[in-house]
Amino acid sequence: MTVNRRRFIQGSAGLSAISAMSLGRAVESSATCVEMSLSAPQIEKPLFIATWPFGKASCEAALQVTQQGGSMVDAIEQGIWVTEADVKNASVGIGGIPNAAGDVELDACIMTGPDHNAGSVGAIQDVLHPISVARMVMEKTPHVMLVGDGAQRFAFDNGVSPTDLLTAEQRKRWQAWQAAESVKKPQIDEDHHDTIAMLGIDTKGDLYGGCSTSGWGYKIPGRIGDSPIIGSGLYVDNQVGAAGATGLGENVMRHCGSFLVVEMMRNGATPTEACEQAVRRIAELDPKNLGNLDINFIALSKQGGFGAAGTSQGFRYSVASPKESRIVSAKAMTEKAIGPEGGNRK
Ligand code: ASP
Repeated sequence: MTVNRRRFIQGSAGLSAISAMSLGRAVESSATCVEMSLSAPQIEKPLFIATWPFGKASCEAALQVTQQGGSMVDAIEQGIWVTEADVKNASVGIGGIPNAAGDVELDACIMTGPDHNAGSVGAIQDVLHPISVARMVMEKTPHVMLVGDGAQRFAFDNGVSPTDLLTAEQRKRWQAWQAAESVKKPQIDEDHHDTIAMLGIDTKGDLYGGCSTSGWGYKIPGRIGDSPIIGSGLYVDNQVGAAGATGLGENVMRHCGSFLVVEMMRNGATPTEACEQAVRRIAELDPKNLGNLDINFIALSKQGGFGAAGTSQGFRYSVASPKESRIVSAKAMTEKAIGPEGGNRK
């Protein structure tokens, strides 16, 4: 996705009914690289972080849910609702880019640290809030993941009403895409995917997370990316920390990316270091070079420290706590910064 489109989405997310003013300071960090691994007393909790500037409205909504007495699961779910319901966001929920057949197919998952529980849906259609269906899978079934028609049937059986997710704008673009020569193969470029991955820590230090996306635009119908896969697009370990991913799912899910970030924190890395180490490890193993991986991680530690890193220039993420709401620029792990293939290959 281009920086311009991100700015546009950021602006449109700002129109959300959730008022940033009620949450205090709203600042965009000018730093190009921010290490946030503060010791516990400095952290204001609850705290939420989410991928991309469009995650800011979701983090603020999540915080507001907790301030009004809602649970952390409610906060993650309802925070993500804001991005899922934003028709201008082309990579999450309604208004998302459809698959190659012109159907919007959504992936989402949710995870709760205290009981290490999880729920997930993949390739689900006609559902406005896949994060809520993921929550229902977690809370109402003995399963972790439902996909496709089964996931949709489960949602409708549990009171969800069908919603047409393909906007007129995306229908027009899909028609143009179909008419173009490139239609023969799924298209890989930065303009056709994104995800909201959100992590939260409460005042007790318990961790939670959720993730929602329309995935890779014009994907082959039935394709499921990293986002609903526990350990790939999202992972929460209540003893250590939580992590979430955005970027080309195929390059995350072959490496269990979010699980990897959490394991790096278990080994003593700060959240930012953990994200960097995971990117390096993936770059070492992956035949694609660093410049083509298109992967980004956010991480939150048990102490409430947070950070991010990825291969995308201009990857930014959102943070909201009772003290502040802001957007932070993540470190770009470019070849220039760390050398080809992660700078580590033996
Ligand atoms: N990870 C998502 C997917 O591959 C897309 C993204 O986050 O950019 O479906």
